[in-house]
Amino acid sequence: MLANKTALVTGSTSGIGLGIAKALARQGANIVLNGFGDAEGPQAEIAALGAQVAYHGADMSKPGEIAEMMRFAAERFGQVDILVNNAGIQHVARIEDFPVEKWDAIMAINLSSAFHATRLAVPAMRKANWGRIINVASVHGLVGSAEKSAYVAAKHGVIGLTKVTALENADSGVTCNAICPGWVLTPLVQQQVDAKAAALGLSNEEAKKLLLGEKEPSMQFTTPEELGELAIFFCSPAGQNVRGVAWNMDGGWVAQ
Ligand code: NAD
Repeated sequence: MLANKTALVTGSTSGIGLGIAKALARQGANIVLNGFGDAEGPQAEIAALGAQVAYHGADMSKPGEIAEMMRFAAERFGQVDILVNNAGIQHVARIEDFPVEKWDAIMAINLSSAFHATRLAVPAMRKANWGRIINVASVHGLVGSAEKSAYVAAKHGVIGLTKVTALENADSGVTCNAICPGWVLTPLVQQQVDAKAAALGLSNEEAKKLLLGEKEPSMQFTTPEELGELAIFFCSPAGQNVRGVAWNMDGGWVAQ
């Protein structure tokens, strides 16, 4: 379905981003990966699916590096047709204890990076009259949780940005939507499981159950593969008039 399209997925060396990149690769898209840590393994995984793959290590907290990454993608594959704004970090602390530099980093990586990548991607998408911008927000773009002030503020911002991007491009074939996962067992969440296990003297399994039990009636983690399928729907012809939604995949978290 996505042959001859190019997808750039930020923060795709791990977790949800890698899951979405693999789903898009299975549909035939060329993939530009981004993120920290091992880039060879993820590139090999995408190549094994038969897709063309490239990697750029831009730090998504730096607008200049984001611009270089967008130029790199255009030079390598012509243009970016599908932009998945996924890179994100977490920090957990009460507001009065929240480190100011963590607030700034979360705003830059989880929110401003989506603005920068989007503003740089939109002109070519509009020219082609086809584009898909998918913002990986969170249930925390829809509801709050204690001790996550920066994350919740940034993710609510991402949903606002999604709506405005969708509206400004509603006269074209360029859509923008947000995905709002509940708990997904990636390194970002494993850190929170580990913190709970250490604080309460629990095993890994007990801490996972406690985390799910606090928020998700289904008692199941959402998987990167499931989120990848939702991204494919947004890219499909049936998704062409889905504009500005924030679609949660959260085991019932936000339905309560
Ligand atoms: P993860 O830690 O597995 O992956 C994060 C990715 O972002 C990695 O590739 C990492 O290298 C990259 N990254 C981090 N800082 C970066 C920077 N400055 N520049 C470039 N890349 C950077 O986390 P994940 O759980 O897969 O999270 C991906 C997205 O999904 C995030 O936006 C997160 O907020 C969101 N999300 C996660 C969950 C969950 O339960 N895991 C739930 C809802 C939303």
